[in-house]
Amino acid sequence: MGKVSLLIGPIKQLVTAKSMPWRYGDPILIIEDAGIAVDGDKIIDVGSWSSISRKYEGKCRILAEESLVTAGLVDPHTHLLFAGSREDELELKLEGVPYEEILRRGGGGIYRTVSATVGATDEELRRILLSRLFEVAKYGTTTIEVKSGYGIDPNQEIRLLRIINGSAANAPVDVVPTYLIHVPPRDMDRKEYVNAIIGSLDYAKDLARFIDVFCDEGAFTVQETRDILREASRRGGFGLRLHADEIAYIGCSDLVKEFNITSLDHLLNLPEQNTKLIAERGGSVATLLPVTVLSLMSSKRPPVKALRSAGVPMALGTDFSPNSWSLNMQYVMELATYLLGMTPPSKS
Ligand SMILES: [Zn+2]
Repeated sequence: MGKVSLLIGPIKQLVTAKSMPWRYGDPILIIEDAGIAVDGDKIIDVGSWSSISRKYEGKCRILAEESLVTAGLVDPHTHLLFAGSREDELELKLEGVPYEEILRRGGGGIYRTVSATVGATDEELRRILLSRLFEVAKYGTTTIEVKSGYGIDPNQEIRLLRIINGSAANAPVDVVPTYLIHVPPRDMDRKEYVNAIIGSLDYAKDLARFIDVFCDEGAFTVQETRDILREASRRGGFGLRLHADEIAYIGCSDLVKEFNITSLDHLLNLPEQNTKLIAERGGSVATLLPVTVLSLMSSKRPPVKALRSAGVPMALGTDFSPNSWSLNMQYVMELATYLLGMTPPSKS
């Protein structure tokens, strides 16, 4: 019988992967009445409790008879780094004031968050980010993606990426930094802006794992997105992501034909036939964000059934932002059931 530092079991239900390490599209494995053997900081075996308890003797033991045990949760889509808040705008939204009108009133909406973020010191932003990173750990999240995006000016975006990287070292969870090209500035020619963003990619190289473009009506056009993605791919070292087909379908998800896009996110207006396009191309995940479906008060839903039957892997995220203030992935899973029609095994 092998001696290990920790045995966890019996566990009512263990959700794990069929093969390790988990790879794109791999199925999950659910074991009832399970056990886990841990030695030092490594899980060395999982299986039924009867076999684990026969094979190993643990210095410590955790009983989990009434528990469901999963791997650490991954939140793959957050806008975690911003200063200020906009809860007063919710009242206007509920009164039916259109977002464009909120934008006009005293620089509301996203531009208000941008000026609060740009006006905050590095130290203030670090403190805000770290307190949120400690909070996510309480909900069982162990890996989190954090986007820049509230700087708009490329120099500010690089500053935010530096703060994300600097804070990651002191965070209780793993942090994946993403350079988000969020919205066009109001006081600059769009073409000039896209060129400035492209120029900043060299500085983002060691600071961001992904480049993400908000491709949509009211944000960047398909052509602008294409120009940015092309330059990001040419430079290498970045994964590509898209906020796509959220507000309207303008052809953003079709960009999977031209680029290897790791993740297409939101997809409330994804045409069903494009699910096949994404599946044929392979390698892309559809990241669905049900809290945002609520906060947009939208009747639109991502085409979950079509994505499932085409075989596109789906992920869930919080999309934490001034508009969707939740860091709780368990709540996200619950909403995915009620709002998106996902079944519990498909969310695992
Ligand atoms: Zn987002």
